[in-house]
Amino acid sequence: MSEVLVLVEAADGALKKATLELLTAARGLGEPSAVVIGAAGTTDALAAALTENGAEKIYAVESDDVVNYSVAPKVEALAQLVSEKSPAAVLIGSTTEGKEIAGRLAVKTGNGLLTDAVDLDGEGVATQSIFAGGVSVKSKVKTGLSIVTLRPNSITVSTQAGAGAREDIAVTVSDNAKKAQIVDRVTESGGSRPELTEAGKIVSGGRGVGSADNFAVIEAFADSIGAAVGASRAAVDSGFYPHQFQVGQTGKTVSPQLYVAAGISGAIQHRAGMQTSKTIVAINKDAEAPIFELSDFGVVGDLFNVVPQATEEVKKH
Ligand code: FAD
Repeated sequence: MSEVLVLVEAADGALKKATLELLTAARGLGEPSAVVIGAAGTTDALAAALTENGAEKIYAVESDDVVNYSVAPKVEALAQLVSEKSPAAVLIGSTTEGKEIAGRLAVKTGNGLLTDAVDLDGEGVATQSIFAGGVSVKSKVKTGLSIVTLRPNSITVSTQAGAGAREDIAVTVSDNAKKAQIVDRVTESGGSRPELTEAGKIVSGGRGVGSADNFAVIEAFADSIGAAVGASRAAVDSGFYPHQFQVGQTGKTVSPQLYVAAGISGAIQHRAGMQTSKTIVAINKDAEAPIFELSDFGVVGDLFNVVPQATEEVKKH
């Protein structure tokens, strides 16, 4: 059976859910091989979880060179593995870094690339959301191996243990790949809330929230259901919420199980970032707001009445 490389993403010593989804997708295509790229010791911390979640092989690329520089050394490591192992496909998370790695890898190895897939079948046919989410297409790489980036929260994780056989991979990073050194890391976080692009639930506020202080209403509801907080561009441009939480064409693309839009009209540029969400709930006082066209559930009402009541109800249970 053909081997499928999965680029592992982890945070605080734990696998990100997106990696479990990639392993599930890889299992549908062939035999998943997890590629762990990081500082010495990184692989040990992740090996048990990778094995439990389906990795037949674990390629450990442990080197300070690959962690101290921007994406180029990771691309070189993956390109080396592609050349040595001849996998059928490489699966990478559709994050900002993931897409950059995938694009560079495709150019470097001369293989086809499909980005922003929301599904991938056993024949390697990817479903992609394109033209700002307005159109869904099915695509397949016809020559070479497939390099596919999959949007977090798109695949339902099914756990099937693998053999987890570890192989250490020695990588020599070229001087060319060391041109952009990482000098500092700043975590963009919403405190204890989940990271926006990976969150299973998101509560977003728009211009209708009215002020930065009023976003406390959105945050309280998000916290009651364990959600991340998002915002429309109008809310961000008005200074209600920081830019890193903007959802949409010029913000983050999200695909959670639940997306709650409060005081958001549903402009095409906002939809572009959230319309592949599984269940969409809109709260808007204007019954004609376009957001209701794509909502599974809608509440016509003042968000300052509706959202606190929802928060209280959730807290009772
Ligand atoms: P509005 O359109 O002003 O809607 C506010 C809504 O709140 C209204 O529907 C109103 O009925 C409702 N409301 C008001 N008060 C209440 C209340 N008390 N209770 C309930 N409902 C209430 N937008 C994005 O979001 N993300 C992007 O990435 C993005 N990129 C863009 C890129 C380009 C090139 C351009 C041109 C635009 C982009 N936009 C983006 C902007 C987009 O076109 C809209 O202007 C923006 O999404 C509107 O935000 P909004 O829905 O919060 O505000």
